[in-house]
Amino acid sequence: MAKFVCICGYQISTSGEIPNQNEWHFLSDVEFGHYSGTVAVEELYLKTEIFYRCPVSDHLWVFWDGIDADAKPRLYSPTELPPGW
Ligand SMILES: [Zn+2]
Repeated sequence: MAKFVCICGYQISTSGEIPNQNEWHFLSDVEFGHYSGTVAVEELYLKTEIFYRCPVSDHLWVFWDGIDADAKPRLYSPTELPPGW
């Protein structure tokens, strides 16, 4: 998967320019808790999951199970907060 189209029509690239402006890496607090002191960034990087944030619509495309050729992302849509929140 080198690119995919967001539901708003914007084409999100998963390869090419580095760093990728639309790509984010995240790590659960549980996984993070396995580390202490100075950590090799490459080691930490390999433990992260990836999501892409559409710069047009703000949708998040989360790859919970890695980003290999068969990987399917889960789509998260931005929602307005209720009044008074
Ligand atoms: Zn979009």
